[in-house]
Amino acid sequence: MKTKLVVASHNQGKIKEIKNLLKPFKLKVYSASDFNIAEPKETGKTFIANSIIKAKTVADKSNCLALADDSGLCINSLEGKPGIYSARWAGKNKDFDLAMKRVEKELNKISSNSKRNLRAHFCCALTLCYPAGKNISFEGKVFGYLQFPARGLNGFGYDPIFVPDGYKKTFGEMSFSYKERLSHRQIAFNKLKKYLIKI
Ligand code: IMP
Repeated sequence: MKTKLVVASHNQGKIKEIKNLLKPFKLKVYSASDFNIAEPKETGKTFIANSIIKAKTVADKSNCLALADDSGLCINSLEGKPGIYSARWAGKNKDFDLAMKRVEKELNKISSNSKRNLRAHFCCALTLCYPAGKNISFEGKVFGYLQFPARGLNGFGYDPIFVPDGYKKTFGEMSFSYKERLSHRQIAFNKLKKYLIKI
């Protein structure tokens, strides 16, 4: 029988990417909504701390293996913001057009267009948590720069303003499979893979 794994997220973009990454493994993959598990408060101060909170909540409530992702966009000249607050910058309606405009506004506050430092990275912490409580976490980062106005309709969140180093297209302009090869989630996932192979 396949082991059940619950993705501790309600974010459809993340769930789609994680389910795809998990395809090679003999797992029956669910999401937190399949078990009616509400999102816990993200009270941690780091991506890893928040991913542990989410994975533990879902492992406890579902009694299954749980995998959580906590991720976000860290902007050098904003001292790493929005960082762990990336989802919260989109407000209650999860409006990422608004969040991307806020990023641009915050950057404009500190310097003029020509002198803006647009360096940024996406960070992803993945935590795998067993029902008994044991957990293990891995982190992945992808570095690049921001560009305005937003470009591309693919992906989710801040994808339309992020260009990874070595590329000209934003994540929002890349196909799903192309972004997946480069992403912070993939980098963290590669580190987690060897543990999944043992399951
Ligand atoms: P949380 O991990 O659920 O707190 O939310 C992370 C937030 O970071 C998401 O809602 C997105 O806004 C942003 N984020 C994380 N990963 C990505 C990505 O791959 N592309 C674009 N935005 C992302």
